[in-house]
Amino acid sequence: MHDAIVIGAGPAGLQAALTLGRMHRSTLVLDSGEYRNGTVQHMHNVVANDGTPPADFRAVAREQLAEYPDVEFRALAAEEITGAEGAFTVRLSDGTTVEAARVILATGVADDLPAVPGLEELWGLRAFGCPFCDGHEHAGRPIAVIGAAPRAEHLAGLLGRIASSVTAYPIGEPYSEDERRMLERSGAQVSAAPVRAVSPADDDGVVVATDDGDTTVAGVFVASGALRQRAPFAAQLGLRMLASGAIEVDDMGRTSVPGVSAAGDLAHRASLPGPMASVIAAAAAGQLAAVGVIQSLMAG
Ligand SMILES: Cc1cc2nc3c(=O)[nH]c(=O)nc-3n(C[C@H](O)[C@H](O)[C@H](O)COP(=O)(O)OP(=O)(O)OC[C@H]3O[C@@H](n4cnc5c(N)ncnc54)[C@H](O)[C@@H]3O)c2cc1C
Repeated sequence: MHDAIVIGAGPAGLQAALTLGRMHRSTLVLDSGEYRNGTVQHMHNVVANDGTPPADFRAVAREQLAEYPDVEFRALAAEEITGAEGAFTVRLSDGTTVEAARVILATGVADDLPAVPGLEELWGLRAFGCPFCDGHEHAGRPIAVIGAAPRAEHLAGLLGRIASSVTAYPIGEPYSEDERRMLERSGAQVSAAPVRAVSPADDDGVVVATDDGDTTVAGVFVASGALRQRAPFAAQLGLRMLASGAIEVDDMGRTSVPGVSAAGDLAHRASLPGPMASVIAAAAAGQLAAVGVIQSLMAG
């Protein structure tokens, strides 16, 4: 029986494992290898790691964690969690089961992108969603913001200070008059024609093609799409959820089910409008969740 099973080895799970390992708590980390930034070449806005490839970040973390004898990794997916605080059983993708007194969910979220031909292939490479992560790299160049007007307006407001121009492109149907006015107030130019497809340009930009036959080269930010829990455990365990689609946690990362904590993009406190989805925020949440688990193990 492990003290804790950490499901997920992105920044949240890796930091949770580090904190548990340093406190000599026997910890099993499970990793199915599906990272939210799996296609990203360089992450940003991560102090001391600005520009580091996420794969290198994870590799260094794993190398350092190998020094902690209480931390074990398995490259397997968790499929089912049963039991209760003090005695959870996790069924793995190879059919075996493992047991732990506490579980930390750090399984992240997946991005469901809007159906724009070519977009999926460019995601994380030339098409992005987060101005804090990838805006500065487009400084002084045109940016296309693709999709739903309210989010496009927000993105245009953030990116307007960085880009040479921001143009909003609707998907499927033109923006309404109200939406067009709202977008223009944020400083964006507005394409009357919806986007038809995106494809890589010869430089590191993106060719944005519209239904009227026009093409423009720009950096692309996506304003439509949805986040989905990567793993089924929130539903499986009946965890209390927030309107954002994330798991509700308290200040120490505890969910509504005793013994189950959650950290990273998949969870946030009710006081926040959504998960503050970033490498640093996920790692910080992983550390808090691990401390919460250690406290509860000490309390018996
Ligand atoms: C295109 C893009 C660019 C980004 N760029 C940046 C950036 O520059 N800077 C920044 O700070 N943030 C960036 N982010 C956000 C950042 O990637 C996330 O905030 C961060 O990865 C969240 O960490 P996490 O640990 O919660 O989840 P993840 O990193 O997604 O890790 C989830 C882990 O859970 C595992 N897992 C899932 N299901 C199971 C299962 N059933 N069993 C076992 N393991 C499972 C996965 O394999 C993985 O190990 C970017 C996001 C995207 C989409």
